[in-house]
Amino acid sequence: MGLRRIMLVRPRTRTGWGFLFAPVALNLEYIAASILDSVEEVRIVNQEFDRRPIEEHLAGFSPDLFGVTMSATEHYSGLDLCKRAKRLMPGLRTIVGGFHPNAMEERMLSEDVDMVAVGEAELTVRELVRKGHPEGVAGVIYRDERGKAVKNPRRPFVKDLDTLPFPARHLRAGNECELSLRRWGIHRDQVHASRGCWGKCTFCCEPLMSGSRQRHRRPEKVVEEIRQVYDLHHRERSFILFGDPHFMGAPRIADRICDLLIDADMDIEFTAMVRADTIARFPETAEKMVRAGIIGYCLGLESPAEGDLGKTKKGITPEAQHEAIRILRRNHAVAGGTFVCGLSAHSEREIRMFPEYARRLGMINAAFPVATPHFATEFWNELAAQGLIEDQNWEHYDQMHRVFRHESLTPQRSEELLTECLGRFYALDIFLDDMIARQGREAGGRKISFRGAVGHFLERMTFIREAGSEYETHEKGARMARVFLRGQVNPHTRVRTERMGIHNIVDLGNILPILGDQKLCITVRQGGEPFAHYVLKTSADRVHYLDITGEPQPDATVGIELDLEDVTGDRRRPAAAIGARMLKRILKRSRWSSLARGTLAVFAEHLRNRGRKSSEKPMELPDGFFEHFCQSDGWDPELYAAVRNGAGK
Ligand code: SF4
Repeated sequence: MGLRRIMLVRPRTRTGWGFLFAPVALNLEYIAASILDSVEEVRIVNQEFDRRPIEEHLAGFSPDLFGVTMSATEHYSGLDLCKRAKRLMPGLRTIVGGFHPNAMEERMLSEDVDMVAVGEAELTVRELVRKGHPEGVAGVIYRDERGKAVKNPRRPFVKDLDTLPFPARHLRAGNECELSLRRWGIHRDQVHASRGCWGKCTFCCEPLMSGSRQRHRRPEKVVEEIRQVYDLHHRERSFILFGDPHFMGAPRIADRICDLLIDADMDIEFTAMVRADTIARFPETAEKMVRAGIIGYCLGLESPAEGDLGKTKKGITPEAQHEAIRILRRNHAVAGGTFVCGLSAHSEREIRMFPEYARRLGMINAAFPVATPHFATEFWNELAAQGLIEDQNWEHYDQMHRVFRHESLTPQRSEELLTECLGRFYALDIFLDDMIARQGREAGGRKISFRGAVGHFLERMTFIREAGSEYETHEKGARMARVFLRGQVNPHTRVRTERMGIHNIVDLGNILPILGDQKLCITVRQGGEPFAHYVLKTSADRVHYLDITGEPQPDATVGIELDLEDVTGDRRRPAAAIGARMLKRILKRSRWSSLARGTLAVFAEHLRNRGRKSSEKPMELPDGFFEHFCQSDGWDPELYAAVRNGAGK
């Protein structure tokens, strides 16, 4: 007899960039859609949104198959779910799937885990629920009655992805969509236009999952699904991630999808993951993608060093990295990407140069994850063969912890370095680049208003805070906040903003004449000790610079002191008391006339601007900005070569 009541669970993911982009359980929705006609009921529990204990769901639903999807970081929480399900309902059959079980195979089996789904799960689970047992079901590894692992043959890849029904998004429980909207202020969803990637990168799970082959859907079906998603979200402004590992894997298909999107009347902003070399080779398609609403880009750039790019089989060149980012910036896209930090050859000094390189490329977003050897990848096999894997706590395989022995970096220093790199990269002038891109896209190159700039700044800060907010302890969070902010102290922010001129991008025409000569300084302290000063120097017609320095500014006309303990959420102090103390210090450290001018200037701007996000004046960017992104940044290729050689590699 077949299995009739199916519960599929996605455990909560650790907070990080990936989670922010992809909170929906799309893989489970794909499976659900494939079995809906074969079972009585399917229930999906997405613990990103539904934090009720699993026992509550089980008691109310009484499934006869319980499935959990997991990556390495959910290894323990996923197994714990199976254990609790078995304890409550001893006869219940359990199955796990996803990236991690796919690599671990029979190692996932235990008294609590009866089966592992390897490869694409839709047709596997469909056959399983119809048969009611795993014998002979391709793609299933299971324990027989004696507890012995039985490995059925792997299931071939789904040849035609369009034979799969659209994901069963209608099964999202209760108020998942509403919670998502409340949390991010925009509907978030995900669509896949293809599966797999033809790349062979040694550290990536895709070669293992997809055999370095990419299969594509028909563009018409992709856009039909996007229309359904848009309708699901009441035709309101939405954000959709193309979850494909490489959206431009077949540029002709990407081009056609864009043609259809341009013709469709939908207010959607997309983000896509793409290889840099493909963008560099197909600039017209990249231009069309931005026109079609694909604004955000995540490129795996990995390293400035050709040696790293070769060793990891990335197959791109530094020239392709440069060209790809240049193309994206010229089209006013949000050019982002990742660098992999802490490969065996990397010294601390070298890693600290990565954010300078990312800035020199012209990136607007960047992440610097710790090199992580996922189980059974080529990278893992290489390190394991040398006996270098020293941590097999799967929760640490989150690209934030170092899990293998490194010549010079301790695990703690590795984690601090990634935070320091983020701090340096996101020194505040990078937000100007984001504003330039947005104004170029949405406002015909006009300056952003003061109000628009403040809103934009707060939006970006919230994003960064959300991405890094879940450290194990409050103390660690505070330490990392200091590392992040300390990483911003760097002379190049001043040099760059002197060249760009903040007033050339943000319309401060109502503010500066009233403000006049001022030096605003925000000092960040920890334990009463100041360690970073954010300095803005103005006169009646310009902002001279933004500086982030370790030097105190005794001549500041407006002084604000922030204690890290207050902003990192020490809840023992009430917000009102923190605010009152801060105000007292501002009054003590500032000139009264400067405070009065500042208040008057903001008030005047408010009255004259009337809430507009853009001004009428055009931005005035330095000559060749889109070619060179103000080369005053701190990247020095000769120094990098020397540092790399000095590391002995
Ligand atoms: S190009 Fe990206 S998705 Fe493809 S194998 Fe390399 S890292 Fe993985």
